[in-house]
Amino acid sequence: MKMTKTVSADAATSENKRSANASEPTQFDQYFMNLAMEEARRAAAIGEVPVGAVIVRFSAGAEPAVVSTSHNQRESLHDPTAHAEILALRAAGEKLGNWQLIDCDLYVTLEPCPMCAGALINARIRRIIFGCRDPKAGAVGSLYNLPADERFNHRPRILEGVQAQDASRLLKDFFTARRKNRRGD
Ligand SMILES: [Zn+2]
Repeated sequence: MKMTKTVSADAATSENKRSANASEPTQFDQYFMNLAMEEARRAAAIGEVPVGAVIVRFSAGAEPAVVSTSHNQRESLHDPTAHAEILALRAAGEKLGNWQLIDCDLYVTLEPCPMCAGALINARIRRIIFGCRDPKAGAVGSLYNLPADERFNHRPRILEGVQAQDASRLLKDFFTARRKNRRGD
């Protein structure tokens, strides 16, 4: 008889395999997207555009483990590259001592931009799971679909629309509040 931990690790692996090509998010996908949403709320709380990201490692025989979490900090760091995904990638690389994140998935509340999609391809991220689309800057289906370009030697798999409404509402509320503040209402 298997130990509980092994059983749940097996469950993690099978969930994981199933999710690879499925269009339906697994319970893991929902759980980790929730963490990304928490990060997005942290961004909103400090006046940053609310986007959050989480990198999760799916090692064989182990339970999925959060490697890094981050949120957009472009304003705080005065850095145009300080998007949630980039900060999460840097932290994950440092933590794992490896720039190649081949057994890692990235959860992000908003469709990645060209810079982030490029960085995720470079990092050999296994899967990109995102919430809502970004019609103005998205590079995972909206303006471009970089991860689907067969000319790249690595193509992360994509799952979109996980908690898309929550992610979208958070962004809309943020921009509405910011416009009001600027008008001095
Ligand atoms: Zn970006």
